[in-house]
Amino acid sequence: EIILAIESSCDETACSIIKDGKEICSNVVSSQINVHKKYGGVVPEVASRIHVENISVVIDEALKTAGITMNDVDAIAFTQGPGLIGSLHVGVQAAKTLAWAFNKPLVPLHHIIGHIYANGFVDELVFPLLALVVSGGHTELVYMKDEWSFDILGTTQDDAIGEAYDKVARVLGLPYPGGPAIDKLAKEGKAHYILPTPKTEKELDFSFSGLKSAVLQLIQREEKKGETIVPADLAYCFQETALDTLVNKTEKAVHEFKPKQVVLAGGVAANSRLREKMTETIGAIEGVHLTIPPLWCCTDNAAMMGAAGSVAYRHKLFGALDCSANPCKEIDC
Ligand code: ATP
Ligand code: MG
Ligand code: FE
Repeated sequence: EIILAIESSCDETACSIIKDGKEICSNVVSSQINVHKKYGGVVPEVASRIHVENISVVIDEALKTAGITMNDVDAIAFTQGPGLIGSLHVGVQAAKTLAWAFNKPLVPLHHIIGHIYANGFVDELVFPLLALVVSGGHTELVYMKDEWSFDILGTTQDDAIGEAYDKVARVLGLPYPGGPAIDKLAKEGKAHYILPTPKTEKELDFSFSGLKSAVLQLIQREEKKGETIVPADLAYCFQETALDTLVNKTEKAVHEFKPKQVVLAGGVAANSRLREKMTETIGAIEGVHLTIPPLWCCTDNAAMMGAAGSVAYRHKLFGALDCSANPCKEIDC
C-alpha cells in the first residue's frame, strides 16, 4: 500500500510517501531551525505561520519526487499530537482536505509512535520490544508487548532530556538547538566537575531539572569566585551524568521486562555518545537485539510517520473527517 504521511508537530514541515511500510519513495523535510535560532528556541506563532507557507509545496514535492499522484495513494497519515497546537493544526487541516477531496481514509497518529517505528527502516521489529524515547518533549521507556501496543514504564518527572540539553546549551552560550552543540563540544571535555546523579521515587522514571539547576549553580558559584568555567568540561560532565541515567534505567527495564529487542527513538537518539553507551551496555546483553535509527530519521520527519501509518492502516485505525489536532494526545489512544 502507498501512504502519504504529513508531520508538522513542531518546527519541521514534512511529507513522505511510503510504500508497503518500508520503501521510502520520497521524504521531504523543510526545517525552520534557521528562523528560530535567532530567538534561541521555537516561537510557536512563527512556527505556525511558516508551516502555512510551506505545507502545500512540501506535499507537492513529496508526490513529484515519488513520481505518483493522489490517485495512487491508499491513505493519508498525519501527526495528530502531541506538539504545538498551531503547528499541528496546519498538518491536520492539510491531511483532512486531501482526504475529503480525493476520498481517501485518514490515519491519525501519535508523534512518538512515529519516532519508535522509524527503527523499522533499519531492522525488522520483534516483540516484546522496549523503546527508549528521548526527544525535545519526551523521555520515556515504552514497552511494546506486541505490534501497536504501548505501555509507559517510566517517564520524566520534570524536563525532557532534549529540553535539558537545549537549556544547558543556552547557559553555556551555545546556539540553538543545543543538543548537537553539546554533543560536539563534550568531545573536547574531561571529567572535571562533579554533578549530582538524578534521583526519582520510581526506579524507571527520569528527572533532569535538578541536574540542569546544578549546572547553572556551578557556573554562578565559579563566577562569584572570579573564576570562569571550562565549557567543554561542563558539557562533558552534564552529558555523562544525563546519559548514564538513561542507559542505567534502560538496562534495569531490560532485566525486569525481558524484551527481545531494544530500540532508541527521538531527536536525542542522534547523540553520538548515547549511541556509544547504548551499544556498549545494552548491545552487550545476551538475547537482546539493539537497534539504533540512522541519523537522518532521529529528528522529526514524515517518513517515520509513514512507517507507523502503514501499521495503523493495516489495523484499520482510521480517523473521521471531523477529527482535530490534539496537543495532549496520549500514546494509547
Ligand atoms: P517530541 O518528539 O518529544 O515531540 P520534538 O519533536 O520537538 O519533541 P525531536 O525533533 O524529536 O523533538 O528532537 C529534537 C531534540 O533533539 C532537541 O532537543 C535537540 O536538542 C535534540 N538533539 C538533536 N540532536 C542531538 C544530539 N546530537 N545530541 C543531543 N540532543 C540532540
Ligand atoms: Mg524540531
Ligand atoms: Fe519529535
